[in-house]
Amino acid sequence: MIAEKKIIRIKLKSAAAISKFMADYYYELNAASESGNPKIAWCTSVGPAEILRAMGYLVYFPETHSAMLGATRMATDLIPEANALGYSPDICSYLTADIGAFLKGVTPLAKVYEGITGIPKPDVLVFNTNQCRDVQDWFSWYGEKFDAPVLGVYTHRNVGDVSNALVGSIAKQMETLAGSLEKISGRSLDLEDLKRVVALSRECSELWKKVLQTAASRPSPLTFFDAATLMGPAVVGRGTRQAVDVFKTLLSELEERIQNAEGAVPDERFRIYWEGMPVWGRLRAHSELFAGLKANVLASTYCNSWIFSRLSPEDPFNSMAQAYTELFIVRSDAAKEKYIRDMLDFFKIDGIIYHDAKTCPNNSNCRYGMPQRLEQITGVPSLTIQGDLNDLRLLSDEQTKTNVEAFIEQLEERG
Ligand code: SF4
Repeated sequence: MIAEKKIIRIKLKSAAAISKFMADYYYELNAASESGNPKIAWCTSVGPAEILRAMGYLVYFPETHSAMLGATRMATDLIPEANALGYSPDICSYLTADIGAFLKGVTPLAKVYEGITGIPKPDVLVFNTNQCRDVQDWFSWYGEKFDAPVLGVYTHRNVGDVSNALVGSIAKQMETLAGSLEKISGRSLDLEDLKRVVALSRECSELWKKVLQTAASRPSPLTFFDAATLMGPAVVGRGTRQAVDVFKTLLSELEERIQNAEGAVPDERFRIYWEGMPVWGRLRAHSELFAGLKANVLASTYCNSWIFSRLSPEDPFNSMAQAYTELFIVRSDAAKEKYIRDMLDFFKIDGIIYHDAKTCPNNSNCRYGMPQRLEQITGVPSLTIQGDLNDLRLLSDEQTKTNVEAFIEQLEERG
């Protein structure tokens, strides 16, 4: 039997630089919201942020705000507020927690950033249904509240091959979107500005990819739980110079760890892949649970979602359409399985954890036989844990602990 031991977490020094980046980001949004200048666009986490930035909008991402509601464990008590409006407890708990917080007039931003009392007011809200339909309902609700226009890109889902016809149709929607945004901002989109922003976004994406790929080293200098707290600049800052700079700092610290053979989990024995959303309110508990068993959850589909290798400043609209359509979450099961197999090989994975997040079927890939099919092909065993991204009523800590301990013991027995 593997002895679980109390773990000392070794914090990355770059975490302070990333916290400063996030603070600057929210203070800038807050100032714009108070003064009305520059205009603010809300955007979904894998929405066309580059177009918005190139047109001078500051960009706010409600999903990141809702992840903060989860991480601060405020979400669970707020969800019933949205349920009372008719938003089911079974739908996205990012949506229900975020709307609940708005109805109650609370935000974690006020706890973390002195002087900020609320979320920034939108001048326009822009979604892409590439991840799910929930974002459309979520943004439409706020559009009505703030009397602001809501614009969308509609993406096919369950995509096998990303065909030219599909990319062309999305690119066309993005060009139309830019035209609508010009009317709202009163400013034309300068193609050179868009190319510059797309180039910065691509650079950010490449750095984030390299950061995540450092986990292929043995021992891994990074855990999934660290990455989930460090990924803010990839989500909210893509297209900015500041995000590029802060990821350069992070990458060099991780490379130094590799040179010194310094693992994020002392005495790493088992290498685990996480498939699905994080449980935001249990990041620390899960990090300690696995580390205590000498298991490093070191790679994930989730953190990889902000790698956009197709972005190309030479062909901004088509490359954005390609990048935001070939994402894992948009794809067919066959494409997803191929992707996970590549990840298992690249990171030399011993086992997979599937998180069945009750309110996000879009990020829960364990419901139609995928774990079994993948284990049959690769021989890599898996465990499915029941839970949720934000609603802590949907998980059992005891059950998770018992199941994870048994799973690691199973890995131990395999030798
Ligand atoms: S992908 Fe899932 S977590 Fe994200 S907004 Fe959609 S339903 Fe919510």
